[in-house]
Amino acid sequence: MIDILSLELGELEEILTSKGYERYRAKQIFSFLYKQKVYDFDSITVLKKETRKELKEEFFIYQFRVKSVAIGSDGAKKYLFELMDGSLIESVLIPMERNRFTICVSTQAGCRMGCKFCATGRMGFKRNLTTSEIVEQVRFILKDNGLKIANVVYMGMGEPLDNYDNTVKSIRILMDEYGLGISKRRITLSTCGITPALVRLKKDLPHINLALSLHSAISEKRSLIMPVNKEYPIDEVLKVLKDFPIPRRKRITFEYVMIKGLNDTKEDIRALIRVMSRFKSKLNIIPLNKHDLIGTKFEPTPIEDIEKFAQTLRDRGFFVTIRKSKGSDINAACGMLATRAS
Ligand code: SF4
Repeated sequence: MIDILSLELGELEEILTSKGYERYRAKQIFSFLYKQKVYDFDSITVLKKETRKELKEEFFIYQFRVKSVAIGSDGAKKYLFELMDGSLIESVLIPMERNRFTICVSTQAGCRMGCKFCATGRMGFKRNLTTSEIVEQVRFILKDNGLKIANVVYMGMGEPLDNYDNTVKSIRILMDEYGLGISKRRITLSTCGITPALVRLKKDLPHINLALSLHSAISEKRSLIMPVNKEYPIDEVLKVLKDFPIPRRKRITFEYVMIKGLNDTKEDIRALIRVMSRFKSKLNIIPLNKHDLIGTKFEPTPIEDIEKFAQTLRDRGFFVTIRKSKGSDINAACGMLATRAS
């Protein structure tokens, strides 16, 4: 059986035409899958009964089980999904200003990158998600909340570029006008910086919004909290990012989980200035979520010190935000997704 939500439109067209169907049928089916968000072929009412029966024999529509939904005091809604093989993943719907929403999706069950401040990293790695398992998080959450559109951030469980092919394919399906029709401006991929995959991404999705999990601009310190830096040192990652064709009016986001005494010193500010001067960029400071899930020796930098740190950089002309962590009371904030039912 073919997993239809793992197919791009062109692939579905090829399969259907090879079976003798007209090419336009693929667009009709795609529209029902993504605009109407149907879960069975019988709901594709533009097709004859006989055709629907044939489709059911060849294809299936991926579906996962909702294990739990937790709603935080700030409106963030965390979904715990059970996949067909029993793996658990989480996705979060985050309310934004002006009645907009962002969906944070996972790309792996667990993560092998082992960032020291991250609950997902501490779970270890189970497996990559398939294209349909990534796409379905968005399709399901839009339907469940009666939303037509949302921003999508690849910032949930897992490192998206460690599951390169499925991540890229899922983004193409989200962007397809017959798919979910989400513009590239609304999609952000966050990575810890896997250099060879970034080189490929530059060709495959050159105009995608990028966020780099920087967390320290000093390579030795970064290696202490992000083992990936030993294999792909930050200097090489930045070299690749430097010639990424960033869309006009867009900036690369540097994510920066702030940890007391580790990456909040004057030396860290100087290193950040050196890096940020080379890019049209924005620094997004994330106060560390101090929670029992973390269970590390790290302490959050007090908010007054975070404000001073940010102001020093702003005074030098840099664009700095301090993330108000949404969903922290339901373990749905950055670095807290760890498949524990709330
Ligand atoms: S921060 Fe991202 S890349 Fe690092 S361990 Fe957590 S999920 Fe993986």
